[in-house]
Amino acid sequence: MMNTQDTLSTSAPGGGGEGLVHSIESFGSVDGPGVRFIIFLKGCPMRCQFCHNPDSWSTEGAQRMTADQLLDRAERFRAYWGREGGITVSGGEALLQMDFLIELFAKAHKRGINTCLDTSAQPFTRREPWFSKFEELMRHTDTVLLDLKHIRDDGHRRLTGHTNRNILDCARYLSDTGKPVWIRHVLVPGITDDDALLHELARFIGTLNNVERVEVLPYHTLGVYKYEKLGMDYPLRSIGSPTPERVENATRILRSGE
Ligand code: SF4
Repeated sequence: MMNTQDTLSTSAPGGGGEGLVHSIESFGSVDGPGVRFIIFLKGCPMRCQFCHNPDSWSTEGAQRMTADQLLDRAERFRAYWGREGGITVSGGEALLQMDFLIELFAKAHKRGINTCLDTSAQPFTRREPWFSKFEELMRHTDTVLLDLKHIRDDGHRRLTGHTNRNILDCARYLSDTGKPVWIRHVLVPGITDDDALLHELARFIGTLNNVERVEVLPYHTLGVYKYEKLGMDYPLRSIGSPTPERVENATRILRSGE
């Protein structure tokens, strides 16, 4: 498991870094405002039991691409972005490639491209030098999609293998600095689909003053075949997707702020 201070990007001959890329989606419509070019980076320290991308955990087999290569490719789709769209970097956990992200988003802004970061915030710390780099990244980030996996620390540890304390601290930092944030929460029957937990999370979200949107993502089993392919055991084998009524219930509670 990687240390939170690890930086995965590498130096390229031209002086700029290379990102370790898992895959690209040219027309994303759910990961940030408008139509977006989505870059999925490889490497993640979390081990969410519901993860449908276990193939993004390791950096093995990553495609190495520079910021300019990615932006040149993204700009081929610029005509479809309209006023709101742009690029989103997701993962894996994008914050593990901090130096590369800063370069990518700074260059995107120079080209007038809207930037969005999709993160679990697991690497977040106020320790230096990480924190200053994060502050710099935020200067080039228009929107953050922040995944809050479980509001209670013990439940978060069971579900992901990590504490949520620094993740909630990241949410507070983003609120204090007024960064536009979309909160996303995966609804898993028997684990996070619990009214008491949802109200607790809603109260936390209610303390933040920068939340533009709250989204409930219904747990699904579409990634199970990947575990089989990787020869890994799938931990939530007996759990199905939540009903539309439960998704509606969770959305209503999380948006109520109480
Ligand atoms: S943070 Fe995302 S990529 Fe990482 S384990 Fe969790 S769901 Fe999977």
